[in-house]
Amino acid sequence: MLRRTSSLLLRRCYSTSGATAATQKREKIVILGSGWGAVSLLKGIDPAKFDITVVSPRNYFLMTALLPGVSVGTVEGRSIVEPIRRLLPGTKHPEESRFYEASAVDVDPLTKTLTCRDMSPVTNSLPEFTLAYDRLVVSVGAPFNTYGAPGVEQHAYRVKEVEDALAVRGRLIDMLETAALPGASVEERRDMCAVVVVGGGPIGVSMAAEIYDFLSQDVPKLYPELTGVPSVTIVHSNDHILNVYDERISKFAEDKFRRDNIRMLKGRYVREVFPRELWTNSRKTGECVKVPFGLCVWATGLGINAFTRQLQDRLGHAERRAVAVDKFLRVRGAAGIYALGDCADVKEGTQLADSARQLFERADVDGSGSVDEEELRVLLIALQGTHPQVTPFLQQKGWTVKGLMTRAARNRHRRNAVAEGMPAVSRDACKAEVPAHGDTSPTALTLADAGSEQHETEAGAGADNGDGGGGEGGGADGLRLSYEDFQAVAGARADDGDGGGGGGDDLRLSYEEFQEALVGVDVRATSHPATAQVAAQQGVYLARVFNASAGLPLGVGGSELE
Ligand SMILES: Cc1cc2nc3c(=O)[nH]c(=O)nc-3n(C[C@H](O)[C@H](O)[C@H](O)COP(=O)(O)OP(=O)(O)OC[C@H]3O[C@@H](n4cnc5c(N)ncnc54)[C@H](O)[C@@H]3O)c2cc1C
Repeated sequence: MLRRTSSLLLRRCYSTSGATAATQKREKIVILGSGWGAVSLLKGIDPAKFDITVVSPRNYFLMTALLPGVSVGTVEGRSIVEPIRRLLPGTKHPEESRFYEASAVDVDPLTKTLTCRDMSPVTNSLPEFTLAYDRLVVSVGAPFNTYGAPGVEQHAYRVKEVEDALAVRGRLIDMLETAALPGASVEERRDMCAVVVVGGGPIGVSMAAEIYDFLSQDVPKLYPELTGVPSVTIVHSNDHILNVYDERISKFAEDKFRRDNIRMLKGRYVREVFPRELWTNSRKTGECVKVPFGLCVWATGLGINAFTRQLQDRLGHAERRAVAVDKFLRVRGAAGIYALGDCADVKEGTQLADSARQLFERADVDGSGSVDEEELRVLLIALQGTHPQVTPFLQQKGWTVKGLMTRAARNRHRRNAVAEGMPAVSRDACKAEVPAHGDTSPTALTLADAGSEQHETEAGAGADNGDGGGGEGGGADGLRLSYEDFQAVAGARADDGDGGGGGGDDLRLSYEEFQEALVGVDVRATSHPATAQVAAQQGVYLARVFNASAGLPLGVGGSELE
């Protein structure tokens, strides 16, 4: 009996110390948050390689896309959450990963120490504790931005969590029940049953749509006396709702809202929110409109999480809405810290100006040591697929592939003609010079880089009609960028040439001017949209990178990722 007990004890001691040794060998990774980004990382990370700790004030994952349904009662709150402890990898061996219900409040990137605090109503005598990490992943999301409008905190409802959605539901029911009481005047009922949603982005639009469905379909059955009384208004700062998406999506949503009598107040910002009305000003004219409501839902753009701001302070980053990360999701200037999802802003590494020298050489296909408009245009069109900031620049210039081949041919012909002392050929004559698709000239090869079927078709169309499109007009003058024009668009300093009356000369950019022009294009770089999809994809990516780079030395240079 004694022997059996001691052998059992020995086995337990052995397995515990074995696990501890394994735990010590694995890199310590701390993941902040229990949302889309954190959970998709958690699902992919290999617990055999990492000692995983998750810290979040919320001990469950939340399917945010279904929150609008919870706010009108079509979806049950419990059905859109999943306990985070169930999602921890290696649950059969609790020593492999753990969860702490707390908020990260500070980080010391030099000593790689994180400070956390239990913010819940029930705390022990030491609510603050520290954690050491080898890699820290910040996925703390972002709150809605109030843009400093007074009264938002007190009088508007923001839907981020299940309890927020339930609060909206409670308010909706209360306003309907109150409106159904005897004694309310027609105006009172109308104002009481008015719902205002501030923000015409995806969240605002889905909230407005869910609430509209509830008010128009369920309310007439439950409150026949209120049939036709409720209304929904959406206030948006841009001239179109869903303006971050393709124009067709935006138009579709606006047409649908118009048919449903959802009022859209566009091009307006909210000046102040009061208990039963808000004041909104036109961005163009300043004209103020007062909008009475029974319920105001605030669903504007995103602000900054308190921990993200603290991290920025620690690292001396310029204050931005989100923490700046490179394309590998590494926080700038902090070895071992990564950020993803709504709290991260991926910009670095996608900037054209960072690779100005290589791009200049690539653009300068005729090897003249300068880049003319045609070359710049070919380069930017080819870069569209990988650098989204190029598209708004091209759109503003009206630069498309259409007609580019024609112009390329015409330009080459003109240059040859000038070189040979012949008069430049007319526009019509150029039609015969359009290169075939199989052309192996530098221009054609660069275009092929873009590799888009659409581009080829458009180039073909341009060849057919010989029209440059984009409203620039034809002829050599149409090819020129004026100084003001280029400066306005790209912030570039352009040289007007030798001033010797060379009206037909193309604009030519030296390397320095080209570099400045790229900075002007980069200004248009936008962040990834703050969506669950982006956060989840980043989590999957980071898990793959981590699994592949476990145990490799980390550095700001981050060779482990490249
Ligand atoms: C109502 C609504 C509807 C939406 N609908 C859609 C949709 O249909 N499609 C879509 O793609 N996107 C949708 N979104 C957007 C999507 O939810 C977010 O883009 C996504 O949740 C971002 O994921 P994340 O991991 O960055 O942050 P979140 O999912 O917000 O998670 C942040 C986590 O960090 C935790 N946290 C906060 N502070 C700290 C701290 N100091 N320390 C530790 N943890 C902290 C939070 O508790 C939370 O667990 C919707 C959002 C809302 C609010």
